[in-house]
Amino acid sequence: MKLVDELFMNKSPLSAAPPQSPIAAPSPAAAPASAAAAPAPNFLRTIIAEDNRTGKYGGRVVTRFPPEPNGYLHYGHAKSIGLNFGLAAENGGVCHLRFDDTNPLKEDVEYEDSIAGSVRWLGYDWGSHRYHASDYYDALYRFAEWFIEQGLAYVDSQSAEEMRALRGTLTDPGTASPNRDRSIAENLDLFRRMRDGEFPDGAHVLRLKIDMTSPNVNLRDPAIYRIRHASHHRTGDKWCVYPLYDYTHCISDALERITHSICTLEFQDHRPLYDWVIEKLAEGGQLERPLPQQYEFARLNLTYVVLSKRRLIELVTRGYVDGWDDPRMPTLVGARRRGFTPEGFRIFGERIGVSKSDSWIDIGVLEDCMRDDLNARAQRRIAVLDPVRLVIDNFPEGASEECFAPNHPQRPELGRRALPLTRELLIERDDYDEQPRKGWFRLAPGAEVRLRYGYIVRCVGADRDGAGNVTAVHCTYDPATKSGTPGADARKVKGNIHWLSAAHAIAAEVRLYDRLFKVPVPGSRSSVGTRGAEGAADGELRHAVAVAGDDGDDDSTVPERNYLDDLNPDSKRVITAFVEPALATAAPEERVQFERHGYFVADQRDHGRARPVFNRTVTLRDSWAKP
Ligand code: ATP
Ligand code: MG
Repeated sequence: MKLVDELFMNKSPLSAAPPQSPIAAPSPAAAPASAAAAPAPNFLRTIIAEDNRTGKYGGRVVTRFPPEPNGYLHYGHAKSIGLNFGLAAENGGVCHLRFDDTNPLKEDVEYEDSIAGSVRWLGYDWGSHRYHASDYYDALYRFAEWFIEQGLAYVDSQSAEEMRALRGTLTDPGTASPNRDRSIAENLDLFRRMRDGEFPDGAHVLRLKIDMTSPNVNLRDPAIYRIRHASHHRTGDKWCVYPLYDYTHCISDALERITHSICTLEFQDHRPLYDWVIEKLAEGGQLERPLPQQYEFARLNLTYVVLSKRRLIELVTRGYVDGWDDPRMPTLVGARRRGFTPEGFRIFGERIGVSKSDSWIDIGVLEDCMRDDLNARAQRRIAVLDPVRLVIDNFPEGASEECFAPNHPQRPELGRRALPLTRELLIERDDYDEQPRKGWFRLAPGAEVRLRYGYIVRCVGADRDGAGNVTAVHCTYDPATKSGTPGADARKVKGNIHWLSAAHAIAAEVRLYDRLFKVPVPGSRSSVGTRGAEGAADGELRHAVAVAGDDGDDDSTVPERNYLDDLNPDSKRVITAFVEPALATAAPEERVQFERHGYFVADQRDHGRARPVFNRTVTLRDSWAKP
């Protein structure tokens, strides 16, 4: 209960506590993997269709994706990107990429480049519409003076502490600051001197004069400008006063003539503030109508990962993962390196839909979307991950024979390739069992299996070393049973195993990735849903900044236990495996299915002809699913 209370405390009565819904299963009516399916209706599509019908925006649809360049994009952002760019594209509109760079201390071009790259990787295009909140600093400053001139803003010289004390609570109204009735002339003078660098950080803030008794804390005279003697990565040392997030965000939308301003639920109770600001400016002739309208949707909460930037940064800086693009990281650069596909994310977006209430999605749903997409697109290849030799005793020494394997079982147009068959092969160690259990269809003394795309062989035994480990399995083959030749199927065997010619196989580094965390909600003692949306905390931090004018970097949601304790120790295993010759020429980022194992991708950075490196994207089946 404690955490829910904490989440609730910082919220106005307008907001609801996150519902404690169970993990959402994929809906049975889930969209098929095919890209051509007509989009399913959702509340945002309905609103836009209605606005187009009534001509509210003259048929224009302009959305935006507004990341703060203070971290790398994660899976949750993919949902937001898919919605904003997708809705615009569906309606012949445009989606802007806008960097919300209002905090000069935390932002960096390194992040901007990565963010833009990830949006492009997902397949979206902002055309010429790449903007920065900092592009609007002049306008934002002008509007701030305008608010002062209208008697709608004042300079407050209280400390952050004092302001917090007068802010009130959920049940008690706030109290007016002693500076609230400063004259317009005094406010203008002080604000200009703030801008001109006369005061140290924190000496004053500019606040809107709205209503200290509002039940919505966001309307209790929020701070809109603070003093920050800091260089900004784009505006340099031009400014030492910076506009705060809420004020900047809604005005940026209006200046860009955004029509549908789509964001996550934690900003629902900020909407009255946004509307107040832009409505006043429009009334005063400072902004053009029609004004943007904000709509909120439920953020993506995904099990077995963390999606809070603060935690992602911690995982990287403390070395729990190998950088931002570690394939286990739920970042989009990590997803790419993992072998996830942009199309898989689109399928995922459609499958989970969009709603106005919080829910949790099992990461298995995302993995399934990737499987569906990869199944259709990835060519099949052979890899032996844990090799043991299989000797065909009656196969001529030194001989080599071609067997042909289709590149894709459902797509004959992709052709086939030759696999050399020789006397000594490599097979998976666990495809042989000397004392097989009931229902074992693979190799065992006396048992018959088909060497996939090759012959039926009969196992005749195995060699062991001094320690009892199997060093080679022996078999004989039946020359009349070659796959694809007449009569090959006359004899039926149940087992079908993959293999590689020992002389032709190529050693490769294979990185077996698994889930980064071993529990559905890292850091939570109890089951999913009790903590609500983890990301809500960040929205509230921003809110705290808006009121107090400080950085609000304290973490108000103390987890029940440390999420780091829930890291999966087996999330990465590096092995030396053997792969078929065709894989030597795989290009970095080429995605393949290793038959019987899963989907793999040639590593974006480390893979090369001299040293092949493959990352496991996802296994063929969900090994985490409860039977
Ligand atoms: P975090 O909460 O991880 O720190 P953020 O919300 O601070 O992320 P922004 O850069 O502000 O990150 O996010 C850009 C956009 O992406 C915002 O419109 C935000 O609402 C959206 N977004 C962020 N996280 C999610 C999520 N989990 N699901 C859907 N949309 C998200
Ligand atoms: Mg956030």
